[in-house]
Amino acid sequence: MTKVMGFKRLAVANKAKQLDVIVPFLNEAESAIHFARMAVELADAVRERFGLTTRFILVDDGSTDNSVALFETHMNGDWKLLSLSRNFGKETAILAGLDHSEGDYVLLMDADLQHTTDVALDMISRILKDPELDMVYAVRANREDDRLLTRWFAGTFYKIMNMGQRYEIPENAGDFRVMTKRFAAAMRQLRDRKRFNKGLYAWTGFRQERIEYMPAARKAGATKWSKRKLIAFSVEGFTSFSVVPLRILSVFGAFVAILGFLYGIKIILEVLFSGVAVPGYPSLMVAVLVIGGLNLALVGLVGEYVWAALSEAKHRPIYILKSVSGPAVQQTAVSQ
Ligand code: UDP
Ligand code: MG
Repeated sequence: MTKVMGFKRLAVANKAKQLDVIVPFLNEAESAIHFARMAVELADAVRERFGLTTRFILVDDGSTDNSVALFETHMNGDWKLLSLSRNFGKETAILAGLDHSEGDYVLLMDADLQHTTDVALDMISRILKDPELDMVYAVRANREDDRLLTRWFAGTFYKIMNMGQRYEIPENAGDFRVMTKRFAAAMRQLRDRKRFNKGLYAWTGFRQERIEYMPAARKAGATKWSKRKLIAFSVEGFTSFSVVPLRILSVFGAFVAILGFLYGIKIILEVLFSGVAVPGYPSLMVAVLVIGGLNLALVGLVGEYVWAALSEAKHRPIYILKSVSGPAVQQTAVSQ
């Protein structure tokens, strides 16, 4: 009973406030109709429970199937659809959505229905009730479906990432989040070209709260993640948020150098005191190969950071917008 009263009070307090729902999608033709149906449910529930109006901002991240047409046909209510000129990646698609959002609250959601309405409503209710809070994010309750090795890699990745940082990047958190207008504005200001969203959210420093959830199974279609993409994603995380790998390798390099130096002294003394020692081919080969290999690995790693720096230095636009459609477009002038 008190819960209902609580919602009623929220509904009155938030009248005329707007929730923008940003939905990046890539080739989600099989999910489009289901999503459109879910969108109506979500908008209704958000209006009834919280008094907010809802606008969907769908971002087509370079789809090559007919998902754009399907979304355009089946979406109802207030929505607009931004089409990017090619696939820029989900993280960039979200930025495009943020650039075109003006709502008082912004919800980020996947198009494949893995992010469910009830979790979204729960997050919205939390952020509305606590004015100190600027973001609520959903964390996958368990990764049991992942293999042990994958979990170990993920765990180590975040441990290294968070070493010596002033802010912590949470593990297992995705892009299923709701944020306030000022949080969205902060995200818009962060114009990183290689975008590692999890790091950016943490970097803003705003107060954030986590809730646990069990993602639903994908309704249709297949995940867009591959092992290759995951590795690239981790490298992006490091090069834009952590200098720890470089530090570890510098320390390791210094350690190897000191060992080499001591060994060198030993050899010089031997030569001085007991004459020229011809044997030594094995130790020579080992030293050359180990140091050579280390050098190559180090140069590769430094190269990743240089490439990241170069990508930023080029100052290319982060994404290119191809077109904008939907009923919301007539109301808002699109400046792009
Ligand atoms: N997505 C995107 N661009 C990409 C890859 C994915 O916009 O380059 C969208 C995708 O259509 C979906 C969401 O991002 O709406 C999450 O992708 P996916 O379901 O493949 O990831 P998973 O849920 O497996 O982590
Ligand atoms: Mg998914």
